[in-house]
Amino acid sequence: MNLIKIFLDIFAPKYCFSCFKKGRYFCFEHLNVLNSFFCPVCNLRFPTVEIKKITCKNCRKKTYLDGIFSIFLLDENFEKLIYAYKYKYYYDLVNEFSEYLNNILDEKFKYLFKNFIFVPIPSYRTKINERGFDHIKLILENSKFKYKEILKKIKNTKPQAKSNLKERKENLVGAFEINEKFKDEFKNLKTVVIFDDIKTTGSTLNEAAKVLKNNGIKNVFALTLAIKL
Ligand SMILES: [Zn+2]
Ligand SMILES: [Zn+2]
Repeated sequence: MNLIKIFLDIFAPKYCFSCFKKGRYFCFEHLNVLNSFFCPVCNLRFPTVEIKKITCKNCRKKTYLDGIFSIFLLDENFEKLIYAYKYKYYYDLVNEFSEYLNNILDEKFKYLFKNFIFVPIPSYRTKINERGFDHIKLILENSKFKYKEILKKIKNTKPQAKSNLKERKENLVGAFEINEKFKDEFKNLKTVVIFDDIKTTGSTLNEAAKVLKNNGIKNVFALTLAIKL
């Protein structure tokens, strides 16, 4: 155990957001674990992961995504955690998020796809400066996941929560671009899994998937910590 961690545990102990028990920011039992694939359009839950196309046949025309995997249900408890992490300086929540990602990687993803990489949903430069950190990248950095920052955000979009569905979609058009640095690595890349914190309407993930597919990536899946059902 590293010294900084021992120091923090003694002088800045963590308390559960729900029951105030000492030790972690969230006890496992307050969270609704899904650990499943879903159709990105109609949110149909797929019970098994031994399938290659994880979007219903009728929904495929409406999305660029081939499926989405989510760990938790986006309920009131999870919303509190994400809010605290993004806006209330609870940076060390990252350790708990990364821990769940590592479990998923070992249990599901390693066996499901061959030769794939994770791509974080990027934030706009000024947003990162305001917040002081890139909240999505930080989770991947702290996990065992191999990732590449293939996407760049080139447009400062309005907060998604404040717009309706049509506005969200229009808002996001042209928001992402391929990071030229990684263009050469595309040649042999068949499968990408985009990573984001939450899936609500799926507009952000869909726009990111569009850019990747237009640049020749065959399979584009998404992985999110939580999904709104
Ligand atoms: Zn608790
Ligand atoms: Zn569907």
